Amino acid sequence: MKIITFTFLIILTSCSYFTNEQQQFSNSDKSQKAPYVILISIDGLRHDYIEYFKPPTLLTLKNKGLSTTSLRPVFPSKTFPNHYSIITGMYAENHGLISNSFYSPKLKRTYKIGSDEVSKGEWYGGEPLWVTAKKNNMVSASYFWVGSEAKIQGLRPDFYYEYNGRIPGEERVDQVINWLKLPALKRPHFITLYFSKVDSAGHKYGPLSDEVKEALFDVDDSINRLIEKLKKINLPVNIIIVSDHGMTKISNSKKITLPKSITSNAKIKIVGKGSLALLYIDDAQVVREAEKTLKSIPHLNTYTKENTPKRFHFLNNERIPAITLSPDLPYYIATKNKSVDGGTH
Ligand code: AMP
Ligand code: ZN
Ligand code: ZN
Repeated sequence: MKIITFTFLIILTSCSYFTNEQQQFSNSDKSQKAPYVILISIDGLRHDYIEYFKPPTLLTLKNKGLSTTSLRPVFPSKTFPNHYSIITGMYAENHGLISNSFYSPKLKRTYKIGSDEVSKGEWYGGEPLWVTAKKNNMVSASYFWVGSEAKIQGLRPDFYYEYNGRIPGEERVDQVINWLKLPALKRPHFITLYFSKVDSAGHKYGPLSDEVKEALFDVDDSINRLIEKLKKINLPVNIIIVSDHGMTKISNSKKITLPKSITSNAKIKIVGKGSLALLYIDDAQVVREAEKTLKSIPHLNTYTKENTPKRFHFLNNERIPAITLSPDLPYYIATKNKSVDGGTH
């Protein structure tokens, strides 16, 4: 078993369980000979967590395998765009998943994390790796990944689940092992596995909290379980571990409240808050007025089509709004009454 850890990004079912039974699936002769890849995402695993908290399995993997020294997410540093960038190799403006929630003037609908929209293929551009696998007659499986529930180019992973964050880590790992015990023709060669705990604890308690440590050690246990079980099934497996973004401590003293002239304006549709707000505005005059108001707010970056930095690659898509707001960290966009103690990205 070879282990490659890209801890810091990138390059490259007690809940309902699905297989594409209707579609024929089996590995071609060539695919059967290829090694196996398990791509694991630990959501919100900040670049320094492994050295700081020293989770034993991840620390060993980092030291024994290959690892990178930094993590640079795509803009915006949100879970959905970044997971979909990892799996397609594209920036958000090219694959179209421009945030966790956003509006499409073309589809006249809003994509929203946690809604039914996530399973609709029309939102997802580019080619996720499981689609590439399918086109090459290689069986794939996903124990969660952004986009894995949707038919993209008419295709899904051969095995996939509807997202349910409550499924314990051991159950996810045991299913991965069960997939690898299938007969060679049906056995997936590309598998994704996803853990959200570390990110959730980071939001609630802040990045260097005991709760983040506990969540990280819990994920570490799951990965140890995976490795111990892999040792018993003698297959050539590569493991790649990625994260999608970091985590910054936030507090009530660094809160930005948007003025009423923006939040109550019927011509401005606002999607998102916190570290990113998307302002959809059709009227050019309203864009100019809003820009002027927003640019006077300290610690708030107001990006229009004219001043969005090129390095963000966040311009060329109909879903990108007239104005994107992103505060300097650790500032946070929130209403007056909202308590924002914890973390964000
Ligand atoms: P955020 O921290 O707001 O960028 O998003 C992280 C959240 O996304 C986590 O709490 C996960 O529960 C959720 N999440 C991750 N993958 C999926 C998915 N495939 N479907 C629905 N929600 C997801
Ligand atoms: Zn995330
Ligand atoms: Zn998060």
